[in-house]
Amino acid sequence: MKVKCTRCGNQREQASDVLYGGKIGETIRNNVCSICWTEWQDMEMKVINEYKLNFSDPNHRSFIMQKMKEFLNLLNVQK
Ligand SMILES: [Zn+2]
Repeated sequence: MKVKCTRCGNQREQASDVLYGGKIGETIRNNVCSICWTEWQDMEMKVINEYKLNFSDPNHRSFIMQKMKEFLNLLNVQK
């Protein structure tokens, strides 16, 4: 399925390997292309290393989530 990507603005194949569930997972799949999703996954690694984040910490997880929404331009998509 093709989506109009919120990050690059192009009509492209949707991100398929999204591991997030629930509403955010759905939002990503419906709004982000596979190329930008791959770019985020690289960026996510950098963010995690830079801030020494730990996925088992809920505060760190919400920080990553915020960074992801900024990166993918999803802040105005999800209410
Ligand atoms: Zn894109």
